[in-house]
Amino acid sequence: MTLLIDSILKTRAFFPEGFVYESLLVTDRFFLIANVRAISFGEEYAFQWRCPCTQKAQRSVCKLPSDLKLFKLAEGFHEPFEVKLPKCGSTVGLRLLRISDEKAIDTYRQQMMDRATEPLLGDPGYLFKMARRIATIDGAEVGLEKKLALVTDLLSVDSIKMQKEYEDNESGLSLNIEVKCRNCGQEREITLPFSAEFFRPESPDGGSETAVSAKHFE
Ligand SMILES: [Zn+2]
Repeated sequence: MTLLIDSILKTRAFFPEGFVYESLLVTDRFFLIANVRAISFGEEYAFQWRCPCTQKAQRSVCKLPSDLKLFKLAEGFHEPFEVKLPKCGSTVGLRLLRISDEKAIDTYRQQMMDRATEPLLGDPGYLFKMARRIATIDGAEVGLEKKLALVTDLLSVDSIKMQKEYEDNESGLSLNIEVKCRNCGQEREITLPFSAEFFRPESPDGGSETAVSAKHFE
């Protein structure tokens, strides 16, 4: 799906001259595509989700992007933003991930999977992703090897702190959305799921529109 989003944005969005698409924040890409979709199809987005009370999937509708909470970068935000890790005592300078980082993480993850001789537990790209967020350690720029060594040895209290500070500094649309179960009546917060319907909304006559086409943008 990210490949499709990238190709739509590259051909349909106009960026300032000299702007490199891969330097876009990962969160800005979603903000852009959510807006492109709203312009093309309208804001309504239907999705399926499951409440723990029943095996049956249910369908809910939200308005995209206006139902999602938008976080803006804090006033005076700068990179790297420093986080002191409570247990190991190191201070890491963090940066937000760009599309170029995401591509590097995907490549790394694929290499790990290709090289693995037995099934891998968890996400093989996880530590690499944590390392890509680090710009400095104790104020000094360091190579990837040192960053990987630091995140590999992190105790959970430090890794939770690093994750939380990263999320607190992140901007963009929150994917957490409230839904109400039609079976038990409970309101729940879920992560908005994505399916093919994101690009092919069901039209009222029962047919389905094709993926974002040129006519919507001309
Ligand atoms: Zn329920």
